[in-house]
Amino acid sequence: MRMFVGGDWVEGSRREELRSPFSGEVIDTVPIAGQDDVDLALRVAVTGAERQRAMTAYDRQAILRRAADIADQHVDDLARTISMESGKAIAEATGEASRAGDLLRLSAFEGSQVYGDTLPLDAHRGAGRHRLGLTVRQPCGVVVAITPFNYPLLLVLHKIAPALAAGNAVVLKPARQTPLTALKLVEVLLEAGLPPDAMSCVTGSGGEIGELLCSDSRVRKISFTGSTATGEAITRVAGVKRLSLELGASCPVAILPDADIEAAASAVAVGGYTNAGQVCIAVQRVLVDQAIAGDFIDALLPKVEAIRTGDPMSKDTTMGSLISEAEARRVERVVHAEAANGAQLLLGGERDGAVMSPAVVMGVDPASPLSQDELFGPAVAVTTVPDVETAIRLANSTRYGLGAGVFTRDIDKALRFARDVDAGSVQVNWTPLWRADLMPYGGLKASGIGKEGPRWAVREMTELKTVVFHGA
Ligand code: NAP
Repeated sequence: MRMFVGGDWVEGSRREELRSPFSGEVIDTVPIAGQDDVDLALRVAVTGAERQRAMTAYDRQAILRRAADIADQHVDDLARTISMESGKAIAEATGEASRAGDLLRLSAFEGSQVYGDTLPLDAHRGAGRHRLGLTVRQPCGVVVAITPFNYPLLLVLHKIAPALAAGNAVVLKPARQTPLTALKLVEVLLEAGLPPDAMSCVTGSGGEIGELLCSDSRVRKISFTGSTATGEAITRVAGVKRLSLELGASCPVAILPDADIEAAASAVAVGGYTNAGQVCIAVQRVLVDQAIAGDFIDALLPKVEAIRTGDPMSKDTTMGSLISEAEARRVERVVHAEAANGAQLLLGGERDGAVMSPAVVMGVDPASPLSQDELFGPAVAVTTVPDVETAIRLANSTRYGLGAGVFTRDIDKALRFARDVDAGSVQVNWTPLWRADLMPYGGLKASGIGKEGPRWAVREMTELKTVVFHGA
């Protein structure tokens, strides 16, 4: 496929093969963008941003609504592309693709809800009554959107749809392993009538062009989703720009003694292994009360054993491959190191190429790498706790703070957990792996800065201006 730069589909001077993480077969070839491509994309984006700003919100909304209808018609094709390039099971990829239309519609709507305030200036001593103050929100201008591989459609859309709805131009850099879904989305937007200068998609290596994109002074806003390490690298080169950073995590779920054990086990068997655990809000740590730990494990193991790994394109597969064999090897190493350190590998942890069998590790040290570092793979670390205080303390014991969950029927304990755990979202009687696209979403601590979800993203893609009229 070609990339879309500066209003044209271009081959690029260098190209690379894109391979299926599951089979290793070549799926396509893709350009590797260089400095000239980045420069062209940004130059045209400056013009595109002026055009976008001059367009009415009504017209921008109409384009995104048309794009939503087109995306709805292409769910199967988008799902196949996601599955092929990421190794995600086709059933999960279809779920992802089916949400695109609604997310575009929601973003279109939020682009029409950009309100300001009037300011009570006469309440300021000496200001008098002859002034009128108000706030208006205006687009940031050029937005750079950088996205990871794990949700190649939705995480791209969570940036570019609110950015376009709010009147910006976007330069998108999708993950190197998953450019095809992003490029197909560009096709959808262009077919819907998006002005070609409002959007570029540069493919290739973030290591090569990330700094060029993030340090350029024509860019006013960077919206990044990816690892905390890359997010930190971006903060070092960005300069004076607005930043939204959706970063890594090690999400906990606490299971208190009065929990519905069956419900908790079912939810962990989903929350730990969806998309082969490659979800920022995946359950990585289970903090289970020692009084019910045995019953919980007895309920959990058969549910995890029932997960069917294999060919992502098969309808029978419930868990596809990881994004690469190298990633699967890394996850395998972490899981087995924990077992060698005294924890018990109750299930899984075997690897075949990029496919890993889902693992449950019991008796995990809360200070170990399997607890503290983001795993991003299909394994759950179980640690027993004596009480809710310990569960809260351990939930807060990593540098991350993206999502957390608690299972309990005790409203006071649920309230305490919700109040005292530092996470961007807390789920009561569910695991952290739950998201509605309309809710504010984004981490605390090293998990990031800012919120996505179209209502919040539109705010982050605009800037507040104060206007004062001085009468006689
Ligand atoms: P990653 O390695 O950080 O890559 C993310 C994106 O950044 C890719 O497009 C990558 O390009 C690009 N990049 C690499 N180096 C860069 C640089 N120096 N400057 C600018 N961009 C650069 O993350 P990943 O492995 O794709 O994704 C997994 C991570 O994403 C996990 O940590 C996960 O928790 C996080 N995540 C967070 C959320 C959230 O909402 N908080 C959601 C999903 C995922 P290349 O692909 O070309 O290297």
